[in-house]
Amino acid sequence: MAVSLREEATALLQELLRLDTVNPPGNETQAAELLRSYLEPAGLECELLARVPERANLVARLRSRGDGPSLLLLCHTDTVVADRREWSVDPWSGALRDGCIWGRGALDMKGHVAAAAVAVATLAREGFEPAGDLVFAATADEEVGDGFGLSWLCEAHPEAVCTDLCVNEGGGDRVVLGGKALYLCSTAEKMSSPFRLKVRGRSGHGSMPGIADNALIKAGKLIARLEGELDAPKLLPETEALLAAALGRVPPAGEVRELLESLDPDLSAMVDPMLGFSVSPTMIEASSRRNVIPGTCEVVCDCRLLPGQTQAEAEAVLRKRLGDDNYELEWLEGIGGTRSAVDTTLWPAIEAFVAREEPGARLAPVILSGFTDSHYLREAFGTLAYGFFPMRTMEPAVASRLIHSADERMPVDDLELGTRFFLETARTLLL
Ligand SMILES: [Zn+2]
Repeated sequence: MAVSLREEATALLQELLRLDTVNPPGNETQAAELLRSYLEPAGLECELLARVPERANLVARLRSRGDGPSLLLLCHTDTVVADRREWSVDPWSGALRDGCIWGRGALDMKGHVAAAAVAVATLAREGFEPAGDLVFAATADEEVGDGFGLSWLCEAHPEAVCTDLCVNEGGGDRVVLGGKALYLCSTAEKMSSPFRLKVRGRSGHGSMPGIADNALIKAGKLIARLEGELDAPKLLPETEALLAAALGRVPPAGEVRELLESLDPDLSAMVDPMLGFSVSPTMIEASSRRNVIPGTCEVVCDCRLLPGQTQAEAEAVLRKRLGDDNYELEWLEGIGGTRSAVDTTLWPAIEAFVAREEPGARLAPVILSGFTDSHYLREAFGTLAYGFFPMRTMEPAVASRLIHSADERMPVDDLELGTRFFLETARTLLL
């Protein structure tokens, strides 16, 4: 009897979950070898590319027959750690229970790995000859980002991962907003752009506050000014498209927050980070002794800029807000903040899948507050990269609680849906 997609993806996911690829240390080579032993017999060309032997990336390819667009299905095989004592099952068991496959990485993102691998293996076995290369990459080191995974591949082996189109993690949630079912596709990401405020005062003895100028107190006043809305809300094209899909119209930027709060708190929470840059003060350093009043105080703020927004723009807003007390503002880095256009070949292919699966449901873009490996591809090759893995059985609120937490599990129904998504999308795009 022929094995169904559902059974095949379930078995592969269980095998992947039984491998401990907790990063650090990762040891992703085990997963790369498992995938090679699964994909090579199906007819895919497989390569293990590794900066160090125990941390291999697997790249599998189905060669094109012509010069159509090339498509990369991107995923990572490492996971975060798991504490057995918090779990109802062994986190490395791949247990099948209550219609779900349980284990660390089931959602983030070995389920996605298994679904995409089964899709490309199925196409290869069918003898499918894609119009452009179909590439499957299961990479190492996404969770820590120490330079063993996709960032390293983009530099050391660009030919292996450079494609026109890419589907990665970061989207696919089904949400009901404004009474309509929407599947979210992430097309853009905010930039992680932390900064440090160095506040100056004058040190002194803790018993004589009058003759010192306490930098910690000054910093406290600055921190208080960072609370609440920092800048006038902006509507990016992605936000307009999401609002249009959810509400049937695009309200003026200045009215969006209030309107959404009254209409739909879920929509409001989701759209809020898309309206502007955010600042969260997270670390502070002042005196190291209880009886010494600090002459300097350093505050580090997590800051996320909108795609396309520059640090100079944000700094102007921040300086206006903070006033001109005695402080220096220093940007620490700027990672991500990339976007791919919505109007392309890839968008209609995903939209068509959604329409077939759930007539009446719409596909809507979102801007992620965090960032994924997609930014490496956009930066290195200008790849059009979206985050999409459809989830219909498990509620997004449940999934987001389980990711990086105890009892992570993937419903078999969603695994099958994801497998069909990769299979049908690759087939449509590369026909
Ligand atoms: Zn992930």
